[in-house]
Amino acid sequence: MCRRCGNCCTRFGVCVTPFDIVRIAGETGLKPEDFLDIVPDFENRERTEPAILIDGAKYLLVLKRKRNEICIFYSETRNGCSIYASRPMLCRTYPFFVRNKKLVNVQSRACIECWQPCSPEKERYILDFKQYEQNISKYKKIAEQWNMKGGGSFKEFLRFISKSK
Ligand code: SF4
Ligand code: SF4
Repeated sequence: MCRRCGNCCTRFGVCVTPFDIVRIAGETGLKPEDFLDIVPDFENRERTEPAILIDGAKYLLVLKRKRNEICIFYSETRNGCSIYASRPMLCRTYPFFVRNKKLVNVQSRACIECWQPCSPEKERYILDFKQYEQNISKYKKIAEQWNMKGGGSFKEFLRFISKSK
């Protein structure tokens, strides 16, 4: 089972889709620019979220991080996620993907050990993963439209996705 060690919240940038952004903004009252950031795209990455053209270069949309890669929403005093109910789909499905309707552990470098959830949590992960894939597929189309028109600034991109969903 998940050891709730917090390693996955404190070591990586967390990719998000416009659907995560709407949910988080709606539930926290924060503006997207308060919790979003971009990082340069890189080769052989594990995530399938699309790269977006910002000021002529390719970037990935991620949650802001505090010092040392710690997610902006990770509460060090409470040792956990401060937006648990509205956390991104990547966080909901980590460290799994689904193959042939089966939950497969990605053998995360963050997890202390390789683990699998029990029912009914397992079914929840599978449903969330399906939702996540649908969101990524829609996000790819939005990103394609943005990139086809030559991209723009990060601010303009946030305006663009707010109109695109
Ligand atoms: S949003 Fe929550 S669950 Fe996701 S990385 Fe940040 S603190 Fe962790
Ligand atoms: S790194 Fe793995 S074990 Fe630790 S909180 Fe994240 S999913 Fe759970």
